Amino acid sequence: MSIFTKIIRGEIPCHRVYEDEHVLAFLDIAPLSPGHTLVIPKEEKATLDELSDESAAAIGRVLPRICRAVMQATGATAYNVLQNNGAAAHQAVFHVHFHVIPKTADGRGLGIGWNAGRLDPAAGRELAAKIAAGVTPGR
Ligand code: AMP
Repeated sequence: MSIFTKIIRGEIPCHRVYEDEHVLAFLDIAPLSPGHTLVIPKEEKATLDELSDESAAAIGRVLPRICRAVMQATGATAYNVLQNNGAAAHQAVFHVHFHVIPKTADGRGLGIGWNAGRLDPAAGRELAAKIAAGVTPGR
């Protein structure tokens, strides 16, 4: 069980901004910028690939609404949605969560290192086919 389960259960306080049967959203305790919000499923899964279709759909339905509300409340006009999976990918809390991170006029928000490569057409064809074959119905 992670700290987010304790927040869902009300055992640890949070600054809640949204809640329904499947989803909870609250302010990040260590914000990258004002309004930095976490959107989590109530389902206890560590990484996004483990999430049920039901929870995924519930999050997908409200995520844009929460983004709109965060932008409206902070006045920010740009933002990032970040979702980390695995310690190597900067995940620290092992309960699925989406960060909504406003970008402020003075540059606060998410810093991104983007070391882009170049997609080889033949390798791309092979890899796309392999991934496509692995997209199976959800849980
Ligand atoms: P990640 O690196 O994607 O796992 O991010 C975890 C996030 O959870 C960090 O941004 C933390 O600041 C945030 N966090 C950890 N504990 C709490 C808490 N009790 N209330 C709100 N946010 C939290």
